[in-house]
Amino acid sequence: MEYKSTLNLPQTDFPIRANLAKVEEEMLGKWEKEDIYHKILAKNKVPGTRGQVPGTYILHDGPPYPNGDIHLGHALNKTLKDIIVKYKAMQGFYAPYIPGWDCHGLPIETQLLKELQTSNFKLQNILEFRNKCKEYALKYVDLQRNEFKKLGIFADWAKPYLTIDHTYEAKIIELFGVLAAKGYVYRGLKPIHWCPTDMTALAEAEIEYEDDRSPSIYIKFEILNPKSEINSKLKNPKLPLDKPWSLIVWTTTPWTLPANVAVAAHPEYEYVFLDVGPEVYVVAEGLLDNFVSKLELKEHQIIDKTKGKFLEGMLCKHPFIAREVPVVNDEYVTLEQGTGFVHIAPGHGAEDYQVGLKYKLPILMPVDEKGYFDDTVPDFIQGKHYDEANKLITEKMKENGSLLKLEFFKHPYPHCWRCKKPVIFRATEQWFIAVDHKELRQEALKAITKTKWFPGWGENRIRGMIETRPDWCVSRQRSWGVPIPAFYCVKCKKPQMTGLFNQAIVELVKKDGTNGWFAKEAKDILPAGTKCPDCGGTEFTKETDILDVWFESGSSHAAVLETREELSWPADLYLEGSDQHRGWFQSSLLLAIGYKGRAPFNAVLTHGFTIDDKGKKMSKSLGNVVDPQDVVKRYGADVLRLWVASTDFRNDMAASEKILKQVQEAYSKIRNTCRFLLSNLGDYQVPGTRYQVPGELLEIDKWILLKLNRLIERTTKAYNEFEFHLVYHALYDFCVNDLSAFYLDMSKDRLYCGGKNSVERRSAQFAMNEILNAMIKLMAPILSFTAEDLLKYRTLNSELGTQNSVFLLEMPKADPKYLDTKLEERWEKILKLKEEVYRELEAVRGRKEIAASTEALVEIGTKGREWAKEIEALLPLVLIVPQVKLVAGEAITVKHAAGEKCVRCWLWKEDVGKEPEHKTLCGRCANVVAKITP
Ligand SMILES: [Zn+2]
Ligand SMILES: [Zn+2]
Ligand SMILES: [Zn+2]
Repeated sequence: MEYKSTLNLPQTDFPIRANLAKVEEEMLGKWEKEDIYHKILAKNKVPGTRGQVPGTYILHDGPPYPNGDIHLGHALNKTLKDIIVKYKAMQGFYAPYIPGWDCHGLPIETQLLKELQTSNFKLQNILEFRNKCKEYALKYVDLQRNEFKKLGIFADWAKPYLTIDHTYEAKIIELFGVLAAKGYVYRGLKPIHWCPTDMTALAEAEIEYEDDRSPSIYIKFEILNPKSEINSKLKNPKLPLDKPWSLIVWTTTPWTLPANVAVAAHPEYEYVFLDVGPEVYVVAEGLLDNFVSKLELKEHQIIDKTKGKFLEGMLCKHPFIAREVPVVNDEYVTLEQGTGFVHIAPGHGAEDYQVGLKYKLPILMPVDEKGYFDDTVPDFIQGKHYDEANKLITEKMKENGSLLKLEFFKHPYPHCWRCKKPVIFRATEQWFIAVDHKELRQEALKAITKTKWFPGWGENRIRGMIETRPDWCVSRQRSWGVPIPAFYCVKCKKPQMTGLFNQAIVELVKKDGTNGWFAKEAKDILPAGTKCPDCGGTEFTKETDILDVWFESGSSHAAVLETREELSWPADLYLEGSDQHRGWFQSSLLLAIGYKGRAPFNAVLTHGFTIDDKGKKMSKSLGNVVDPQDVVKRYGADVLRLWVASTDFRNDMAASEKILKQVQEAYSKIRNTCRFLLSNLGDYQVPGTRYQVPGELLEIDKWILLKLNRLIERTTKAYNEFEFHLVYHALYDFCVNDLSAFYLDMSKDRLYCGGKNSVERRSAQFAMNEILNAMIKLMAPILSFTAEDLLKYRTLNSELGTQNSVFLLEMPKADPKYLDTKLEERWEKILKLKEEVYRELEAVRGRKEIAASTEALVEIGTKGREWAKEIEALLPLVLIVPQVKLVAGEAITVKHAAGEKCVRCWLWKEDVGKEPEHKTLCGRCANVVAKITP
């Protein structure tokens, strides 16, 4: 008879090849059609359970810019969030996830200006321009939304939050009003790039560097302090106290000298005192040679030397204005060129401004918006253009002897991208948030301590930044954004931004969006009869600046968490790249403290950046860019998701073709293991017989269930601590080591050849059913498509079949009844024994004494292995050999088994042929076959 038909061979419709493209398309369709996102929320919705389990869990999405296709960093960020949200939901948390986009801002504005410039667009029509910006932003919101969906991210994609929503914009204005009312908002001077031709502020992105000819001058700042007071290390008794001593400053912008208020030295550099005959010069030691040759100094002698930090606080004479200027310390001073002393004009430079803040230096700004000097400067340059002033100032210093050297050189200088003319740094009135008002900084620092930071170093990073940050300049001279909600009284010139002034704008923006602000005059926005609270004036003008986009995105906690019905304030988690300690985390924190006195998050998680497998940044020119769309197309979104999970996100995350191939291999191993389990559970689904083991579970099955429950413990801990790479390793190791290398091999004989309803076979199926059910759920937050696909093939089977999405199921919990530590210890010994047996088996096969393990008799010496007696009956199964004998002594010997080979199970057994009906079968097989064929 044909015995093959009596075997219980594995069978499943689950395809051998993954074909993720097809599966993913099908699952995306299913999730959308069945609205699984909202079904999960509905299942977990328990009102008023914040802070409990199950309760609410809010991961608040940081909004990306919609100005291009998503890149790998976006994919990584959204996938990490998705893993967390799905895991929390499967734990029973009500975890709504509202994705957002940061729609205003310079990247879009610049892009549009570039496009429109070629089509002769007139900038005067700001509303038309803003509408085009909006169109542009919405186009990319749509594009990115589709790209994110394809990654399998669950979110309320139909109703995301956009920073251009009217409700969002109105909330920003309301929040600004609250901060203004509490006194955090003020106006002050700050230098910005300024085009004197176009009379406008320019953003960094609008600057083009071109070579320009500039003067290069060395000038003296004579030291005013009594020379005997100078705190140098060397007490030289022969110091030439009668000669004038001067710090030598090098600059290429003589026209900024009228605004000079200090000279900066690097605190750690050495500065030398150089006696050149009639006077003494002070320059950095590292630039001495250069200086001596530039000035062609013949006779010179170093008389003293000191560190820059000892010069701090000294006073010098301005070279042509009756002004005393202090020496300050600044780490930005370099030894690249010049003298190691830098002239500081806080009104004319970004670094100068920072130094000015630190030393509370005055910000002088004698240049008007067209680039001409006002009347606060000496007569000889009053009313002159800054370029002309360069020459006049140089001549003046030549006359009074403070100029040591003048030459000209070409160097890259910032130019305006519109008119191509040189631009200047010019201090203008800007809006600020005062970080030291009402202890804002201290409160923010306290809130940092109360927040959980993943990884932990994030805490020190943001603490350091908040500790040292200057006031926040929140105004921008742009068009595509939310206006600074302030009016100016025409009579007294004071800005008005609180109370009814704020309310009027909030109402307007709720109705018309911020376009309403640009479309209307102040008198049409304010209620009739509005009076200036300071002077009673009745006429007002509008502020023309807009808010920094970081103010917009930093308001999201108020504009989204407070306004969306399904959300609540504060969030449980913010999760972004580690650059956001400087950006979104910080702006959100400061605004929330000012607004509500508390951090908007309970925990913050940061991830690294994507790099290639050689540690290089991804760039088009290097050709090492991994494009998520391309990965999804060629490998499948699940492989990309597995890559995200497999990489420790705390460091930079490496991706390349090679790495993706490795991840794909790992993916295949996990999937194949699941397929094997599935294919052996085909008959474990007959109603009435599921779960039933006709007798007690075999010890080997108890052991693998123990391993499964250890896996559940490990992955639960790792998920809870956001250690997804540990989830990945635990799942992978379980599949490859525990299952493929041991358990599944050990179970094949009883599954295929055992009686269909035998204890041995049903016991294995019971365990395998538990394993597959748990694995599908454990992998679901990461391998979402594959888990959902596996579930589809389990529809009739077990409790999983009653739900139509894996995400509606609960995460498995470790069952203490399987966590038997004695069993665990014994199995460590068993697996060790198996290793020893196989070493011997290989040796015997090498000597051609036996051909396969199916014909082996293994004799195990029980000396030192007394425990083996307790599981004697199980040993053939565990060792996958037909015959095992326990003998005296400690040796392990492998011989050819006695008896004959059973044609059904291929094992050599002594009882083959004992059954007259089935002469070629072993006793077990004859028994099985007899039950099938009556
Ligand atoms: Zn210009
Ligand atoms: Zn007034
Ligand atoms: Zn047999």
